[in-house]
Amino acid sequence: MRNDLPHDVLRDEVSADVDDDVDIIEARPVTHFVTTDLTVPGCPIERDQLLRTMASLALGTVPELPAAPVCRECVTVENACRVVQFGEVCCGAMTRGGCGARCPSYGVACAGCRGPVEEPHYDANVTMFADRGISRADISARMRNFSAPVWMSRGLERENPHD
Ligand code: SF4
Ligand code: SF4
Repeated sequence: MRNDLPHDVLRDEVSADVDDDVDIIEARPVTHFVTTDLTVPGCPIERDQLLRTMASLALGTVPELPAAPVCRECVTVENACRVVQFGEVCCGAMTRGGCGARCPSYGVACAGCRGPVEEPHYDANVTMFADRGISRADISARMRNFSAPVWMSRGLERENPHD
């Protein structure tokens, strides 16, 4: 979420005690830096998924983590869709489920905190948002947080090339 903040703002507001020599690099997922065997998704992760994962590893089995998008859970609990009924940018269709569609259940669009599904249909989602009259700048702004590195690689930079 910090990638949109200018470095001087970060230094003043967040890292004032940090030595000026420290390089503030772009935030990236841990998998960008090291190879991992397994990732428990979410920011924060879901308690039950952590416990199930640890139990599974202790038993020597491969943990199963949710792979379907947030929309699947959202439809199951019969939430009003933030895109269809409210014309908002909701990342649920591109985001890995497992949170029980927490945010839409409280009337807030999904911001993508659990990271992307295996094949996020970026272009189709952007078209869906734009068809509802949402500006490209607003779409881009809304998607610039948790999953931004993935959305970027899928075309977010195209939506806002002047950044
Ligand atoms: S509110 Fe979001 S998560 Fe729920 S169905 Fe609509 S797009 Fe999917
Ligand atoms: S931002 Fe999306 S993935 Fe994260 S808790 Fe909310 S609904 Fe779930």
